[in-house]
Amino acid sequence: MSDRRYEALLHDAARRACRYIAELESRPVAPAAADVARLELLGGALPDEGLAPGEVLARLDEIGSPATVASAGGRYFGFVTGGVLPAALAANWLADAWDQNAFTSVHSALGAAVESVALGWLRDVLALPGDCGGAFVTGATMANFTALAAARHAVLARAGWDVEAEGLFGAPPVTLVVGEEAHGTLYKVIALLGLGRERVVTVPADDQGRMRADAIPALDGPAIVCVQAGNVNTGAVDPMAAICARARTQGAWVHVDGAFGMWAAAAPGYAGLLEGVADADSWATDAHKWLNVTYDSGIALVRDAETLRAAMSYAAAYLPTGGVREPFHYTPESSRRARGVEIWAALLSLGRSGLADLVARNCRMAVRFADALRGAGYEILNEVVLNQVLVAFGDADTTRRVVAAVQQDGTCWCGPTVWKGRAAMRISVCSWATTDEDVDKSIDAIVRIAAEQR
Ligand SMILES: *Cc1c(COP(=O)(O)O)cnc(C)c1O
Repeated sequence: MSDRRYEALLHDAARRACRYIAELESRPVAPAAADVARLELLGGALPDEGLAPGEVLARLDEIGSPATVASAGGRYFGFVTGGVLPAALAANWLADAWDQNAFTSVHSALGAAVESVALGWLRDVLALPGDCGGAFVTGATMANFTALAAARHAVLARAGWDVEAEGLFGAPPVTLVVGEEAHGTLYKVIALLGLGRERVVTVPADDQGRMRADAIPALDGPAIVCVQAGNVNTGAVDPMAAICARARTQGAWVHVDGAFGMWAAAAPGYAGLLEGVADADSWATDAHKWLNVTYDSGIALVRDAETLRAAMSYAAAYLPTGGVREPFHYTPESSRRARGVEIWAALLSLGRSGLADLVARNCRMAVRFADALRGAGYEILNEVVLNQVLVAFGDADTTRRVVAAVQQDGTCWCGPTVWKGRAAMRISVCSWATTDEDVDKSIDAIVRIAAEQR
């Protein structure tokens, strides 16, 4: 391909992306069923002769773009997702052109350097110990996996067992304590690590889903306590300080699953929710949620960087052994995209105050949703302490019909959930792109639709 044609192709991709972004404001948030059905056109037998890159792109845009969920826009409040900041998207494009392998500093000095800088900034904004180690992984699931592998290493090493060498066969038993409201992916990670999802000790939670510190059993021997910062339904945060204090006296490792809730640390008005979080031993969070970078991006942080390294590192004759931080010593993966790039770009474009403002603004918007829906006569099922709102529109049937109608209407998108046995609609606000007008427009639509369904 000539330079000129290559350039035209990339300009075409940028032009199509810009048109897509411009249309986010006016299109329905959920794709039309007919557009989803057209995804079939992506398939068929793989042609013998390849298509020109421009034709490939055109086909992808024409079939793919209308079938996307407009989660990059300002009125997507489903699950806990987050949009993508302009600086993160642009940096991602450039980084994809670089096609760097962030495996080692030899593969990419840039990839290694950008991670080191981003790691330092993350420790700073998340108010974590200044020398903790970190790994840039695909999401909170893998971040939990990575941090808990370090935890497994540490608690078994203290019992005289080398888990990386010997595995879990014949190892001293490890007690894993989780809150009743732990995220589903945490159980998956526990299973992957051979710790047994049904062997966990489950601690009851309060009415907001916070683990009860007073209900943690007496622990002895190797033990890991998993706490949560940000319940996916209520946004509630476990009482970190009390749990860390209790676990510490019993020699247990404390791990924090803070996929989105950890970011409260970056906003002075909300950081109090996380009081004591820096006393834990490891943390997992997502950058593709509240930091609003492109998928996929999660971060594992471990107080003692050497422990993380001991759980993840390996050696080969051809790998560098120099003084710089080599990414592969800290991650489960070897070859990886340089996902530190977007984290670096997002943090630099926001600055400390911009990040604080993003978090605080989204939390204020959640309160605005809750106040308006309560004012319209509907029941808010949670204390709106962060960015999550749970609303019931009457009985379970009515609530489910309202959620379906809201999704169908397309002004905004919210998902269903069940909280303490009650059917609810869940509203999660975690995008830089959400404006007050988006919130008001969404409230108007929800109130109108709920009235129709009564
Ligand atoms: C989203 C979430 C996860 C899983 O994160 P992924 O990025 O999807 O892997 C884990 N724990 C909590 C609390 C979450 O909110």
